Amino acid sequence: MNAALATALLPTYPAPNVEFVDGDGVWLTDAAGRRYLDFAAGIAVVGLGHRHRAPLAAAHAQLDRLWHSSNLFASEPAPALAQKLSDRYGGAQAFFCNSGAEANEAALKYARKATGKPGVIALEQSFHGRTTGALAVTGQPKKREGFEPLLPGARFAIPNDAVSLRAAATRDVGLILLEPVLGEGGVIPLEPSFLEEAAALAAELGALLAFDEVQTGVGRTGSFFAFEQLGVRPQLVTMAKGLANGLPIGCLLVADDVAGAFSPGDHGSTFGGNPVVCAAACAVCDTIDEELLASVRANGERLAAGLRTLPGVTEVRGAGLLVGAVLDGPAQPVVDAALDAGLVCLTSGPDVLRLAPPLVVTAAEVDLAIATLTEVTST
Ligand code: PLP
Repeated sequence: MNAALATALLPTYPAPNVEFVDGDGVWLTDAAGRRYLDFAAGIAVVGLGHRHRAPLAAAHAQLDRLWHSSNLFASEPAPALAQKLSDRYGGAQAFFCNSGAEANEAALKYARKATGKPGVIALEQSFHGRTTGALAVTGQPKKREGFEPLLPGARFAIPNDAVSLRAAATRDVGLILLEPVLGEGGVIPLEPSFLEEAAALAAELGALLAFDEVQTGVGRTGSFFAFEQLGVRPQLVTMAKGLANGLPIGCLLVADDVAGAFSPGDHGSTFGGNPVVCAAACAVCDTIDEELLASVRANGERLAAGLRTLPGVTEVRGAGLLVGAVLDGPAQPVVDAALDAGLVCLTSGPDVLRLAPPLVVTAAEVDLAIATLTEVTST
C-alpha cells in the first residue's frame, strides 16, 4: 500500500503488505502484477467472484440513471430486493442499511420495541460487529475491552450447550441472537438440537429469535440462508457481506408473523437501500440458483476433505464454503506463508485457518489451494 495513505489512516487494522489492484473471478492481482488465488473473498463477501458480470452490469446500469435520492422517495431497486428476500425467506419485510453491524443494531432495536424487553442472550465467541450495540452482544471480551460500559442487558451462553443457554434465560430477555456458524469465533457450526432449544426458549420467554446470517447468508453454506439446512426458522435474520457482492449493504429481515413493531421514524439510514447497491444485490439474488448452491456444497466437502490431509490439522468444521481447519499451533503464520505462496486465506480466532472462497470456485481451484497449503504446512 502507498505509504502516505497508510500513515493517514487510523490504525484499526495491521499495516497490510500487499495491495491488490485487480480482481477476476477467484483471482486477485497485486500492484506488481502477481496473481493470487483468493480463498478469503474480501472476508466472505465477494460470493460471485470479482467483477461478476450480473451485479456489475446491474450496478453500471443504475449508476448511469440515478445514484441516490434517499428513502424519502420511492425507488425501484430497494422494494424489488425486499421482495426477492421475502420470497427466499417465505414472507418477511426488509430494512436496508450499510453493514453487518448496522443490521444487528436494527435487530436489537426491533426486538426491544417488539417485546419491550432489554435483555439479549448471545453466545461466547460470537461476533456481531464493532458498533457499541453489536459489540455489547459480541461474546469476545477482548474486543469489548476498553469500550465498556456498552449497551446493558447482554449475557452469553456456551455454543451448543443447552444447559448454559437455559441458565442465561431471565424474564427480561427480548432477543436470542445466534450465528448459525460462528464465523469469526473459530468456525463453529451450531447443532440443530441446540437451535431447536433456542427457538423453544425464545417462545417460552416471549423473546424473538434472530440469526445473524451476515457471514453465513447468501449461499455461503450451500443454501441461500444457512437456517434452511438446520430445521429452525428464526423470526429475524440479519445479512450483509455477500448480498451485493462487495458493495456495502446490510439488511434486517423481519418475519411477517412478528411484523408491525416499527413505525415511520423508529429507525432509518440515509444510505440504506441505495439504488446502485440494491440493483447489484438483486442481480446477486437472481444469480444464486440451485446449481450454484449444489456446487458450493460439493466444493465445500472437497475443501474440507483436502484440509483433513494437511499436517498439523486436528479438526475441520464448517458448512459449505465457510470452512475452518483447527491447527495444532497459531494460524496467522500459515496465513502469512500462504499469502507469500500466492493463496489468500483468513484466520478465525488464534488457531483456526478459515477458508471462504467465492462461491463460484471450481474443483481445480480447490485442489490448487490444497496443494499450496500442503506445501506451506509441510515446510
Ligand atoms: N456479524 C457477523 C457474523 C460477522 O461475521 C460480521 C463481520 O465479520 C459482522 C456481523 C459485522 O459486519 P460488518 O463488518 O459489515 O459490520
